[in-house]
Amino acid sequence: MATYDVIVVGLGGMGSAAAAHLAARGQQVLGLERFGPAHDRGSSHGGSRITRQSYFEDPAYVPLLLRAYELWDQLADDSGADVITLTGGVFLGRPDSLTVAGSLRAAREWGLPHELLDAGEIRRRFPTLTPAEDEVGLYETAAGFVRPEVTVAAHLALAGQRGAELHYDEPVTGWSATAGGGVRVRTAAGEYTAGQLVVCPGAWAPELLADLDVPFTVERQVMYWFQPSGGVGPYAPDRHPIYIHEDAEGTQVYGFPAIDGPDGGAKVAFFRHGSPCSPDTIDREVHPAEVAFMAEHLAAVLPTLPGRYLTAATCMYTTTPDQHFVIAQHPRHPAVTVACGFSGHGFKFVPVVGEILADLATTGTTKHPIALFDPRRPALEATP
Ligand SMILES: Cc1cc2nc3c(=O)[nH]c(=O)nc-3n(C[C@H](O)[C@H](O)[C@H](O)COP(=O)(O)OP(=O)(O)OC[C@H]3O[C@@H](n4cnc5c(N)ncnc54)[C@H](O)[C@@H]3O)c2cc1C
Repeated sequence: MATYDVIVVGLGGMGSAAAAHLAARGQQVLGLERFGPAHDRGSSHGGSRITRQSYFEDPAYVPLLLRAYELWDQLADDSGADVITLTGGVFLGRPDSLTVAGSLRAAREWGLPHELLDAGEIRRRFPTLTPAEDEVGLYETAAGFVRPEVTVAAHLALAGQRGAELHYDEPVTGWSATAGGGVRVRTAAGEYTAGQLVVCPGAWAPELLADLDVPFTVERQVMYWFQPSGGVGPYAPDRHPIYIHEDAEGTQVYGFPAIDGPDGGAKVAFFRHGSPCSPDTIDREVHPAEVAFMAEHLAAVLPTLPGRYLTAATCMYTTTPDQHFVIAQHPRHPAVTVACGFSGHGFKFVPVVGEILADLATTGTTKHPIALFDPRRPALEATP
């Protein structure tokens, strides 16, 4: 039976980064992936993901983001791939909305450069955005977008160059801790053993990490691309920021400049408000009523965006009850490290999660602040 230092299960956003970081530390790595490299069946596809630093979800994420930004640059250097582009970002809503008040809190707590803009100033600087008179926006230059498929492919290529063995189309059917303190992993093709296991299963967490007892909800999400009326000119990435807008009901919509040329349109999506699904039951078709609902929602804040509907794609969030991640050594198995429940906002952290997982698998600890991601936190206790 083949034996490794570390087996990484799931080579999506997080697992590919873990494999690259572990291999860089000289570990003998086996990576096992259910599908092919950088596929579109999990949570790491769709061409773009927002990155930002003034983090409304919790200021505790900011130090991780500062390190992630260093690692994004390093990944770009090491791989030569275009993984991150900073366009600036504006986070809009009423002053007391989570999007505005939470972003401001994080920016102030960490001394992050930002500007607070009133509705008139937002309309003047970014004419595509039409906030209501009582709305404001926090603008930061450190925001932009990262490229999920390019990032996964870059980490996989680096992992391979550094000696990792990567097996595709080989789903893991089970794993167990062994009496000797290591792990055994079963796939349709065979069995492997290792000193450590890193599990990054994305939307398959309820299946592969059932014994974590975390009540994950897998949600179907839709990304939409529209050709703006009047063309993509005003949406060009050198003049248009990424944006998140929260309305009076708390609905958040977010989007990107036109990053795929004149015919590629601009992408927009709702944050959360998905429908529960599983990787086996997800409806991959996007229905006309959904497109109409999005276009109607945009009329208030980005009226020129829904000029002509181009296309849409589905994707899955794996959400925890408090919407914070799960990153830790498995509470019952010290040889197993888990990274899951990224709750729809994990991609910007991919390189730093790779570093943390490599720390935990090789030393059992990390200098990064991950207490918020403990699977035993009270907010994750399953309700009876
Ligand atoms: C529509 C959408 C928009 C998003 N927008 C943003 C954003 O703007 N900014 C942001 O930061 N984040 C965003 N996110 C969240 C981010 O994309 C995810 O948090 C991140 O991609 C999760 O990565 P992952 O590695 O956990 O999952 P995945 O990339 O899905 O990787 C999991 C992998 O495990 C594999 N796997 C599962 N089970 C097995 C098995 N038994 N054997 C072998 N392999 C297995 C899967 O095939 C998959 O490749 C968004 C997500 C979605 C869906």
